[in-house]
Amino acid sequence: MTRAMEMTGRYDVAVVGAGIVGLACALAAARRGLSVIVIDRDAQANGASVRNFGFVTVTGQPRGRIWDRARRSRAVWDEIAGEADVPILQRGLWLPVRRPEAAAVLEAFMATEMGEGCRLMTAEAARARAPQIIGRQTVAALWSPHDLRVDSRMAIPRLAAWLSQRFGVCFLRQTAVQAIEPPRLVTGRGVIEAERIVVCPGDDLAGLFPDHLAEAGLTRCKLQMMRLASPGFDLPAPVMSDLGLIRYGVYANLPEAAALRARLEAEQGAAVADGVHLIAVQDADGALVVGDSHHDAATPDPFASEAVDQLILDEWRAVTDQPAPAVLQRWIGTYARGPSADLIAAPHPQVRLALITAGNGASTGFAFGEEVIADLFEETIEP
Ligand SMILES: Cc1cc2nc3c(=O)[nH]c(=O)nc-3n(C[C@H](O)[C@H](O)[C@H](O)COP(=O)(O)OP(=O)(O)OC[C@H]3O[C@@H](n4cnc5c(N)ncnc54)[C@H](O)[C@@H]3O)c2cc1C
Repeated sequence: MTRAMEMTGRYDVAVVGAGIVGLACALAAARRGLSVIVIDRDAQANGASVRNFGFVTVTGQPRGRIWDRARRSRAVWDEIAGEADVPILQRGLWLPVRRPEAAAVLEAFMATEMGEGCRLMTAEAARARAPQIIGRQTVAALWSPHDLRVDSRMAIPRLAAWLSQRFGVCFLRQTAVQAIEPPRLVTGRGVIEAERIVVCPGDDLAGLFPDHLAEAGLTRCKLQMMRLASPGFDLPAPVMSDLGLIRYGVYANLPEAAALRARLEAEQGAAVADGVHLIAVQDADGALVVGDSHHDAATPDPFASEAVDQLILDEWRAVTDQPAPAVLQRWIGTYARGPSADLIAAPHPQVRLALITAGNGASTGFAFGEEVIADLFEETIEP
């Protein structure tokens, strides 16, 4: 008898996909006292959820619904981190900028409700607080206390283990779900039954419900990432730079961003064309995780470009005036990307297809999971 077949009995909720979105849905369902099974084709987490920075970004998320989601998700990370043994490795965000046009974007940001609690400082004031990362070209710097960072390689497996121990969530791995025929899930290892089903396939756009995914206009986005040796100092918080201000919606949609974009296209055209911006975070052993770039394709090629990696390292050097430490690891990650921030579809009344399509699942996943489960049980979450 296969392992899947041993897991007979009917679950209240079955979740396909054990990335952050699937785990968030499992948590929301388990917190309602429901019996939950999570099914994933991989032996351990291997998708976007463990390839990312683990940067739980509140500052810079689009205003309104997504910003609310990020704040709620950050609160959930804080609630469960201790119990699930997931260390919060860094808190806050430093965003030093090198151009007056970028400082103007930050000033405009500060005038929005999302600037609350943040501080926009002169280069001197910022250097006094974070001398290692405020380079000579800095003209101003934003400090935000709202963000946090976990090491996803550790956080995702620990979250799954905690769901299992704390709530009895059952995990069935190395099992591909081939078809959903409610209440049945047909897997390569037998049939599972569940009253309700949530499909969180990440960037597998050709597996389950491909027509719904095609209708939503989704594609895949490839990102390049590197782990660098410890720079020999503590990174005081995650670091971003000018380039991030034309990628992150809340800044990029401000009228002031147009002048910055024009200047960046003139001065850093290759970086803009490759969707490069800087995020730098630090692991517990001092190593840095830096990235990234953005290239869309239905099937992204698996090859990391050295030229793109150099653009990322150039930005680290320009921001901090620090040399780029030796590269220890390089990898690519992919996520599903679409015209809107997410997709919640109901291919059947008892089934939800749920994807985050804006590359911010670590930041918004927990709130999204709560919304998906509420929708599955036909409740409305107050905005
Ligand atoms: C390089 C990179 C950096 C990023 N940095 C950040 C960041 O710092 N902060 C942030 O908020 N977001 C970040 N993101 C985005 C974030 O990682 C994603 O939004 C999020 O991980 C998506 O989670 P997911 O659960 O949908 O997908 P995944 O983590 O890819 O999980 C999907 C899972 O579904 C399984 N699956 C699919 N189909 C089936 C099937 N039929 N049967 C069984 N199993 C199936 C897969 O095996 C997989 O394990 C980054 C993404 C990348 C790629």
